[in-house]
Amino acid sequence: MISPRLRALVSCPDCRFPLRDEGARFVCPNCHRGFAPGHGYIDLRPADAFNETTKYTDEALHVDARHERVSPPLLGAGVRNRMLRDFLALTPHDRLIDLGCGSGRMMLWNHDTGAWMVGVDVAPFFAHEAIEQTDLVLGDLRRMPFPDGSFNKAWSLDVFEHLSKDALEGFLRETARVMAPGGALFVYTHVRKNAPIARGLRWINHLAAWLERRGLIDMTVERLRKSDHLNPLADIPDLEQTVGAAGFRIERIRYYTPLIGGFVENILMRMAEHAMASRARARQPAGTSDSAAAVRDARTSAKARIARGGLVYGVLQALTTLMMLDVWLFGRIQSGPFFALLVKESARPSAG
Ligand SMILES: [Zn+2]
Repeated sequence: MISPRLRALVSCPDCRFPLRDEGARFVCPNCHRGFAPGHGYIDLRPADAFNETTKYTDEALHVDARHERVSPPLLGAGVRNRMLRDFLALTPHDRLIDLGCGSGRMMLWNHDTGAWMVGVDVAPFFAHEAIEQTDLVLGDLRRMPFPDGSFNKAWSLDVFEHLSKDALEGFLRETARVMAPGGALFVYTHVRKNAPIARGLRWINHLAAWLERRGLIDMTVERLRKSDHLNPLADIPDLEQTVGAAGFRIERIRYYTPLIGGFVENILMRMAEHAMASRARARQPAGTSDSAAAVRDARTSAKARIARGGLVYGVLQALTTLMMLDVWLFGRIQSGPFFALLVKESARPSAG
C-alpha cells in the first residue's frame, strides 16, 4: 500500500529533493522527474540503473510462486524472525525500514508490534497481503528515496551475501544516511570464515546429495539461490571494519551454525515436500505431465493447510523451537552465519 505517511516522506532518488504529491503522481520540484504510484507500491528507482543487480530480479527464482502467499514464520524463517524480535524489540513508536524486503513477509509477521514499516526491494515480487497491509517501495538500496534520519530501526536479512564489497559499502553508507543516530539495524548474513563445528554441515550436504541422486529430494531451487552469493565479507574483523567505516558499531552478535536446522530443513522437509509432490503427481489426470504445476499446487495447498493451524502447524512450531537449539548451544562460537544488531553511531567516526 501507499499510506499518507509514506506519501509525505518520499524524496527523489536522483537528487534527494522532497517529492511533490500531486495525487495521481509524484513530481521532483528540482529535476522534474515524475513518479507514478500503482499496483500498491511506488516505483522510486534511480534513473541511471546500477549495472550490478542481483539474480533475485529474475523470474526464474520466482516460478515456484513462493512469494504469492505468506505462510507463518516456521523453521529457518521462524528462527530468523524470533531472533529479529528479540534483537529489535519493536514498539508502536518505531519507524522501520525493511531493506530488501522480498515478498514483504517479515513485515507481515511483525505487523502486530504496531511499528510503522516501509519495505524496499529492487524487484516487485511482493505478496498480495504485503501490498494490502504495508508500505512498499520499489527502489535501489544504494540510493534510497528517503530523507536523512527517516528511520530509527531497520532490518536486512539474506542481503549482504548477494552484494559485492563495493555494493555492500554503498548500501551500508546509504542505510546509515536514512537512519537516525542511535538507530538499530538487525542483520542476518554470513562471513566466509566458518567455525570447525560447521563441518557437520558438510555431512548434511553429503546426505542431501546422496538422497537427491536417489530421487528422494530435489535441491534445484536451493542451488539456484546459492549461485548468486558473492560473499563480500571474509571474517568478523572484516565485518567490524566494513560496518565501522559506514558509521555502525556491532552492539550484539549471535552466531548461527544450523546443524539441527540443516538436518530439519535440508533433509526432513525436502523429503516431506518430495513425498507431497509425488502424491500430487499421482492424483493428476492421465495425459497431463506438468509436474512443475503439480509441485506448485502441492506447495500452495500445504501452505493453506499450515495457515489454518492444527497438527501440521503444531509440529512445525515444535521443530522451529528445536532449531533454536542451534542458537542456544552454538551461538557464542564464532562462525560464518550470524545475527547482529548494528547501531548507528551518533557522530561519524573521524577519518584517520
Ligand atoms: Zn529529482
